[in-house]
Amino acid sequence: MTQSPQSAQISYNTSLKQLENAADIIKLDPAAYELLRHPLRELHVTMPVKMDNGSTKIFHGFRVQHNDARGPNKGGIRFHPDETIDTVRALASWMTWKTSVMDIPLGGGKGGVICNPKNMSLGELERLSRAYIRQLGNFIGPQKDIPAPDVYTTPQIMAWIADEYSIMHGHNQFGVITGKPLALGGSAGRGDATARGGIYCVREAAETIDLNLAGARAAIQGYGNAGSYAHKLAVELLGMKVIAVSDSSGSIYNPDGFLYEALMAHKKKSGSVTGFPEAAAISDKELLELDVAVLFPAALDSVITKTNAPDIRAKIIAELANGPTTPEADTILYKKGVYIIPDLLCNAGGVTVSYFEMVQNAYGYYWEEKEVQQRLEKKMKTAFLAVQQKSKAYNVNNRLAAYIVAVERVAEAMKLRGWY
Ligand code: NAD
Repeated sequence: MTQSPQSAQISYNTSLKQLENAADIIKLDPAAYELLRHPLRELHVTMPVKMDNGSTKIFHGFRVQHNDARGPNKGGIRFHPDETIDTVRALASWMTWKTSVMDIPLGGGKGGVICNPKNMSLGELERLSRAYIRQLGNFIGPQKDIPAPDVYTTPQIMAWIADEYSIMHGHNQFGVITGKPLALGGSAGRGDATARGGIYCVREAAETIDLNLAGARAAIQGYGNAGSYAHKLAVELLGMKVIAVSDSSGSIYNPDGFLYEALMAHKKKSGSVTGFPEAAAISDKELLELDVAVLFPAALDSVITKTNAPDIRAKIIAELANGPTTPEADTILYKKGVYIIPDLLCNAGGVTVSYFEMVQNAYGYYWEEKEVQQRLEKKMKTAFLAVQQKSKAYNVNNRLAAYIVAVERVAEAMKLRGWY
C-alpha cells in the first residue's frame, strides 16, 4: 500500500469494545480477557536523522506487539504525521484478531513513525527507515515480529529495512519483513491479494444467500490498491458489472459497467477516475446507496453510519477497508438482512499472502503465482466457513462471529501455554 486515506486516529477503545462483546458471549476467563485488553509489549523510539539541508531532525516512533500466543507478531509500519500510540495499539490488536481468524500461526503487531513522507526526499526517507529499524534492534526479527508496508510505506522502504536488518546481523535476513519487492524475496500474488481474498469471500457469501453474481452490479468506494483490483477481479472471477467507482476526487457511474483496462489507463493518465468518458458524475452518498448486489468500501473508515445505513441497498457489503461500518450502522444493516463480510475476514488476503512470503523466505523456495492464489483461496474459504458457523451457533452478526473465532483461538493458545 503506498498511501491510505484512512484517518490516523483509530481509537483503541473501539477495538476494546469489540473484544468485550466477544468475551461476554463466550464467557472468557477474566484473566485471559485482561491479558487481551493490553498489548504484551511496546517500544517507543527516538531517532536523529540527517536532513538534506544539513540539519538533524529528531523523529519519534513506536512498535506495539499486542499478542504473540499463536506465533510471532505481524503487522505493518505506518509513516504518518498524525500517528499516535493509541492508533498503533488498536491496529496491533486488530492484527492479532485478523491472523487468528485466518488461522495463520502469527500474532498481532503494528509500528508507526510520526513523519510526513510527502515532505521528505527519498534520501531522508531511507535514512529514517534505517534509523527506525536500528532503534527497534532485536525487538523485531523473523521469529519475533515481522513488519510489512502500511500507510505511506512502500516495497522500497521494506527493501531498505531488510537491508539494514541484514547488515545489523551480518547476513541476509530478508524474512524480517514482508511486502518486499520480488527481487528481494517478495511473494508472487501479493499485489492483488487483499482484493482477491475479498472476492473469494463474496463468492462464498453469494452462495450462502443464494444470490447470482453473473451480470450482477457492484459499486466500489476507493480506487487504490484494494479497490481497483476488486474491480478487475469482480469482473474476471465473478462475471460482475462494476457500475460505480470513486476516489478522493469524486464518484462516477455508468449503468453498463466500466472496463477495467480503460478506467485504469484513464486513472494513470489523469491521476483520478473522475472525468472518465461515458460516465456520469454522482455523489459519494449516491454511490454508497446504489441498488447493487455488492458494495465494496475500499477507502476510508466510518463511511457507513447510522445516517446512511437505512438507505443502503446492497445485498452484500464486502469490507476491503478497515473499519468502514460503524457499530450503529452494523446493527441497522444486520436487521435489514444485508450480508456484511467484516474487515477482519474480507481484507485478510493481504496478511495471508504476507505469511506465505515468510514461509517462502524461510524455505528459500518460491511459489508461482497460481500456487499462491490456490493456497489463498483455500485459506479464505476455511476462514469464511469458521465465521459463518460461529454466526449460526451464537446467532450473532458476522463481525461478532469473526471476533469470537479469533478470541477463542488466541485464548486457547494462551491457556495451553499456561498464561492463565
Ligand atoms: P490506497 O491508498 O491504494 O487507495 C485508497 C483509495 O481511496 C484511493 O483511490 C483514494 O483516492 C481513495 N479515497 C480517498 N478518500 C476518498 C473518499 N473520500 N471517497 C472515495 N475514495 C477516497 O489504499 P489501499 O491500500 O487500497 O487501502 C484502502 C483500504 O483498504 C484502507 O482502509 C486499508 O486499511 C485497507 N486495507 C488495504 C490492504 C492492502 O493490502 N492494500 C490490506 C488490508 C486493508
